[in-house]
Amino acid sequence: MKGTCDVCKKRRTVRKNRKTGKAICLNCYRKDPSTHEKCFECGEVKPVAMRNETSKAICPACYQRSKVPSAKRRKLSKHLDSATVATNPNGAPT
Ligand SMILES: [Zn+2]
Ligand SMILES: [Zn+2]
Repeated sequence: MKGTCDVCKKRRTVRKNRKTGKAICLNCYRKDPSTHEKCFECGEVKPVAMRNETSKAICPACYQRSKVPSAKRRKLSKHLDSATVATNPNGAPT
């Protein structure tokens, strides 16, 4: 849905944070540690890319792995790694 992100205050496609009830854009959502969950596949606490049929969190890396043909995996995971370590200019809200 369209709305104003409560974190960066920009008008974007936002979603509700289930824990805080705040609207948050996808960009901020992925950076917010309070939204991170333990990945069902790899066990790391990471942003949630999707949920499986039992509502378990799947991280972006595992999500990509699950849908990308093996020949492309290496390139994509490298790309995801660099995205994951991007700096958070505002600091994460708790
Ligand atoms: Zn935002
Ligand atoms: Zn994972």
